[in-house]
Amino acid sequence: MSDSTDKTVLLARIEHDGLVGWGEAAPISFYHQSFDSAEATLSKIGDMLGNDPFALDAILDNLLKRFPGESAAICAIDGALHDLIGKILKVPLWKMFGLDRSRMPLTSMTIGIDKPEVMAAKVREAAAFPILKVKVGTPDDEIILNTVRREAPNKTIRVDANCGWSSENAFERCKLMADYKVEFIEQPTRPGDNDVLPRLREAGLGPLYADESCVTVKDVLFCVGFFDGINIKLSKCGGIRQAMKMIHVARAAGLKIMLGCMTETSVGIAAAAQLGPMVDHLDLDGHLLLANDPFTGLGGEGGRLTLTDAPGLGIRELT
Ligand code: MG
Repeated sequence: MSDSTDKTVLLARIEHDGLVGWGEAAPISFYHQSFDSAEATLSKIGDMLGNDPFALDAILDNLLKRFPGESAAICAIDGALHDLIGKILKVPLWKMFGLDRSRMPLTSMTIGIDKPEVMAAKVREAAAFPILKVKVGTPDDEIILNTVRREAPNKTIRVDANCGWSSENAFERCKLMADYKVEFIEQPTRPGDNDVLPRLREAGLGPLYADESCVTVKDVLFCVGFFDGINIKLSKCGGIRQAMKMIHVARAAGLKIMLGCMTETSVGIAAAAQLGPMVDHLDLDGHLLLANDPFTGLGGEGGRLTLTDAPGLGIRELT
């Protein structure tokens, strides 16, 4: 699929008793995953699933042990099994989880790093979205914030530094972000480069959210004291089941929670969206940036994702 750049993802399709479940793998290069590694993993998994889609714990625990670096591929299986279970039971997943769809936060729309005039145009195109997520972490951060704030003086703006700062400049950069009244700052420094983070928080700079520093459920407690919240992505942690565990641990630890995404079709985004009412913020705009999403049913215009009464992931294939 392509937007301004091409990105290839994999869709997993699991058939059981005449029903079909869909899941998506969006491999993350930061964790050394690729289309090829995910495809090779999925081809091995095909014979390992057994005949009971409800055996989620056994199936997914086994896959996480066998393929520890291939969370995106496992996420595709997790999504397809959940979709299938919802379709067998004829309920949408949000309802199966006992969630209240009126508690769905609005999603942000991402403004990627580009020339100022291109970023300004993107902000204007995103006029219907009340929340923007702006990528920073470059030498031009001030120009970027200045450009976006000028176009959207009253909007909620959150920023993602994508590990782009260091102990040396994070303090000054976070102060700059505060000047532009950002809602929160995602991943200011590289994972492990944590020394500056408590100082930032003590100075009232932030709130800080972990993305690359919080991959799986094991990482959540290590974020306490350094971050105010975490960004959970299904491809990063291995799917709905793992994300749910992260949500519970984060809540118990007093961390805020955002659900994020990669560039994904409606299949991957819908899996995350089904957990939407459990979290504080959504950054689930991947499907809205695609020119050729093969599925529909999720909405997203104006930041409003729809949890419908359609079973499973609640989406349907475009024919
Ligand atoms: Mg991020």
